[in-house]
Amino acid sequence: SVGGKVTLDQIDGLSKTSYPLCMRQLHTAMKENHHLKHFGRLQYGLFIKGIGLSLEEALIFWRSEFTKLMDVDKFDKQYAYNIRHSYGKEGKRQDYTPYSCMKIIMTNPPGPGDHHGCPFRHTDADLLRQRLAAYRIPKKGIDEIMEFVKESHYQLACTRYFELTHGVTASSAINHPNQYFDESRQVLQD
Ligand code: SF4
Repeated sequence: SVGGKVTLDQIDGLSKTSYPLCMRQLHTAMKENHHLKHFGRLQYGLFIKGIGLSLEEALIFWRSEFTKLMDVDKFDKQYAYNIRHSYGKEGKRQDYTPYSCMKIIMTNPPGPGDHHGCPFRHTDADLLRQRLAAYRIPKKGIDEIMEFVKESHYQLACTRYFELTHGVTASSAINHPNQYFDESRQVLQD
């Protein structure tokens, strides 16, 4: 990321200022449920790796949430391996890269109890409107975003959301959650 390393104590604040909607949704669900299902763990885990959270801190993050509902032993046996794996520390040591918007929009649509996916693509329109209003997007802005959604221009909807929440005109369309994050940091740190 632009600002270099992100540390665990910054994550909550950043989720409200610099995360795209898809990742804010995953972060919020994690905090509320102390759990995320498989594709949510993948989508969010690779994103936080991409913004520069170290493997050590990622393990602390997942462990501290998950062990609110399960014992440490179970976490270490069932989940820690996959987190290390996504950082390329286990198995074939493949380096997994964070998912692009296209991949999130086109593959593995969320089912009941899932929080992954792209809210502009996968969230019911009324619910999406409510959430945008709760995040203080003005009515006119919500209408603009929903117009893009209606025409299946999900990434343009996301770009408009970026513009409205950052008070800038975007230089390019959003095509990757980590690009969204980097551009947000650039705007907010200037
Ligand atoms: Fe996330 Fe991309 Fe959807 Fe924006 S367009 S919410 S960054 S998946």
